[in-house]
Amino acid sequence: MSTTTEPETTRPFDAEVGRLLDLVVHSLYSEREIFLRELVANAADAIDRRRFLALSDESLALPEDAAIRISIDKGARTITITDDGIGMTAEDLASHLGTIARSGTRAFAETLSQAKEADRPSLIGQFGVGFYSAFMVADEVEVISRRAGAEAAHRWVSDGRGGYRIRPATRETAGSDVILHVKSDADEYLEPVRLETILRKWADHISVPIQLERDGK
Ligand code: ADP
Ligand code: MG
Repeated sequence: MSTTTEPETTRPFDAEVGRLLDLVVHSLYSEREIFLRELVANAADAIDRRRFLALSDESLALPEDAAIRISIDKGARTITITDDGIGMTAEDLASHLGTIARSGTRAFAETLSQAKEADRPSLIGQFGVGFYSAFMVADEVEVISRRAGAEAAHRWVSDGRGGYRIRPATRETAGSDVILHVKSDADEYLEPVRLETILRKWADHISVPIQLERDGK
């Protein structure tokens, strides 16, 4: 039996993830707009990776209109970042979003924990903060993902505290949706104009088309 698809089982984050989450959420508060840079960068990376793998496996080919789509639902208080990228299996969700495999993230956590408070904001320009920066603006994050070439999709969900749950889900096509349930003190990020400003500042160099949907369009 696969443990990754057991419903309602909360699995703890790696100890290092817990430490990093604490650091990111509590010491980068004044810079929290960079969550969007990090999530858009991940979406673009996933699309690039799929494009690369499709060179040797045409069944993974990107749709012609491959893009990153960002939508806001003010009523539901959510921001959703959708991509047509490579996607993640249940195992990928557990290992990529539940552990720190990446030396860059570890180096960031170490540098950040040793830095003076005043120096911390400038550090985020030098390191990618990564996926966990989503928890600066969200009290719950869902990731619905389907690996290119696979039939099954899975939903990862976490409140960014103790751990995460993974269960089977449905998704029509390969790729990922990152759904942020916006914190009560982060209303500004439910404004399309605010997100547009952040994208102009931080995501200008992204080579994949980014579509910001306004008013549900
Ligand atoms: P980094 O992007 O530097 O590797 P992150 O914390 O931003 O670190 O993301 C961790 C990992 O999670 C990524 O390396 C990738 O494997 C996976 N991941 C995150 N977002 C996505 C996405 N939208 N599509 C596919 N994989 C993703
Ligand atoms: Mg990243």
